[in-house]
Amino acid sequence: MNSILVTRSSMPDYEEYCEEIKDLWDSHWLTNMGVKHQQLQKELEELLDVPHVILYTNGHLALENVIAALDLPKDGEVITTPFTFASTTHAIVRNGLKPVFCDIDPISFTMDPAKIESLITDKTCAIVPVHVYGNICDVDGIRQIADRHNLKVIYDAAHAFGVKYKGISAACFGDASMFSFHATKVFNTIEGGAVCFHDDSFVRTLNALKNFGINGPDEVEYAGGNAKMSEFQAAMGICNLRHLDDAIECRKKAVERYRSHLEGVAGIQLNPIQKGVTSNYAYFPAVFDETVFGATRNEVMDALAQNGIGARKYFYPLTSTFACFNNAYDASETPIALNISRRVLTLPLYEELSTDDVDRICKVILDCKK
Ligand SMILES: *Cc1c(COP(=O)(O)O)cnc(C)c1O
Repeated sequence: MNSILVTRSSMPDYEEYCEEIKDLWDSHWLTNMGVKHQQLQKELEELLDVPHVILYTNGHLALENVIAALDLPKDGEVITTPFTFASTTHAIVRNGLKPVFCDIDPISFTMDPAKIESLITDKTCAIVPVHVYGNICDVDGIRQIADRHNLKVIYDAAHAFGVKYKGISAACFGDASMFSFHATKVFNTIEGGAVCFHDDSFVRTLNALKNFGINGPDEVEYAGGNAKMSEFQAAMGICNLRHLDDAIECRKKAVERYRSHLEGVAGIQLNPIQKGVTSNYAYFPAVFDETVFGATRNEVMDALAQNGIGARKYFYPLTSTFACFNNAYDASETPIALNISRRVLTLPLYEELSTDDVDRICKVILDCKK
């Protein structure tokens, strides 16, 4: 039996990529906002229906830089979720800010707005929610709270590329949104990412921050780092963008096949189908209730591994419990996130995953049922 990995990057045909990078051998212009960079930026502004897209060499530095661009007070507190990838929390901490962890909604796995206000203090300056698995946060609820308390909102939209809510692009919520174009994401530029926003005054700052703070031939306005997207990354993005609709359609077929096997199985909770949301089918999480299903998440993961099938404890552990934070945070204060993180498994999902593969995966899972 072939092994099935949890993910596999979408790639254009070899010839298509070679054709796309050919001009680079004429121009010898490999990075620093060249023609490929400019083209991809323009295409993304159109696709994501947002006035400004600033491209980055990865999503993490995009998030770090957009938080830096807000120029928040040095000991400021940022309300965020512990049920996310390391990047979200680290971007806050690496800006010298203090993460304050808010619990999640047990159905959508996104930040629960009803739990935000009790966490607000006079040091709170921003909210960084995550559209986990491409599920859209309660953007209206979060906006109302942010407006009431004069807080900035930056969305980690790493999972939500191409997602729409009530016809509005996921790039358009909050003060800004970060996307990741990492190899494992729905749309990739090998490594890559972007910040999307409406406010024109952000453009100058973000362009400078990703390029050593340089703002003109003789002007260095910030002590910025280097987070520029190269021409080869942008070329990969230009190619992958041509096939995005097909890639999402393939993912959709796989997701529907998973649902046909697992929907309604007692003791397995699936990702919600959110009202008003056009999905990108980024992930397929399943949450196991041992008392009903008869097997734990870890037992299911082991059974899959024995059959050559990869799955990922995504997200476990909670970021608030990482060793690097030396027990500074109490995971019992986010009990729903803690509970879900101990029971969740994301199953293989990628463009080329066949329905036969999905059948094989689901059989192994259902054989675990007692
Ligand atoms: C992938 C990811 C990131 C970071 O993006 P990179 O492009 O890998 O740096 C941030 N947040 C979440 C939730 C992610 O899944």
